Amino acid sequence: MAEFSPAVSPSLDHADVVAQWRQVRAELAEAAQAAGRRAEEVALVAVSKTHPAERIRPLLEAGHRLFGENRVQEAAEKWPALRAVWPDLRLHLIGPLQSNKVREAVALFDAIETVDREKLARALAEEMARQGRRLEIFIQVNTGAEPQKAGVAPAGADALIALCRQRYGLDPAGLMCIPPAAEDPAAHFALLAAIAARNGIAGLSMGMSGDYPQAIRQGATHVRVGTAIFGRRPPPL
Ligand SMILES: *Cc1c(COP(=O)(O)O)cnc(C)c1O
Repeated sequence: MAEFSPAVSPSLDHADVVAQWRQVRAELAEAAQAAGRRAEEVALVAVSKTHPAERIRPLLEAGHRLFGENRVQEAAEKWPALRAVWPDLRLHLIGPLQSNKVREAVALFDAIETVDREKLARALAEEMARQGRRLEIFIQVNTGAEPQKAGVAPAGADALIALCRQRYGLDPAGLMCIPPAAEDPAAHFALLAAIAARNGIAGLSMGMSGDYPQAIRQGATHVRVGTAIFGRRPPPL
């Protein structure tokens, strides 16, 4: 995936992370207003993957409570200690979830944004019942039909949503998409919004550092912003 590269150095100090977060909040509010929406209608998921707890803590101290991580193992290493100090924080899983990690994910996260197959929906429903925890779930839609990318195919989304509701007692809070990096995201955001509307789903998790104002104009209720807040991530291994 192409990385958005704002003019920030990888070695921001903590004050700069808070300053960037304030800037993103301001731009989010501006985009919402321009679209005739209220800023409170758009949740800012601060994507902290690859960044250590020392970089996350200043945001919690500044009052931010909603974060996204893409790997269960990394979240397990970072978040229990932070949650002990800030019990009202909320953590979203935004990366693929393997069935053998469902138990750990249900214990760690407040929302799973990447439900994309029946087997995973079933495992999550069973595990939530077992642990007595109710997580929000989002259905990830592969709007670009990219073979290497997770997400249910657009043509299969209605059926998966119906299965979640009717067979597993899961009422999806939203849909989520990651548009192909090389394409104008507008058509993908529109497709996601259309699938949500015809299924009576309120939430739309769409928009990242490079395109969240556009996503907000098209109805995003959750934007997932990493680089614009935390700076560049180290390249993947
Ligand atoms: C990393 C990631 C983001 C954040 O991307 P940025 O371009 O750094 O804002 C958003 N969504 C998902 C699913 C991601 O994996």
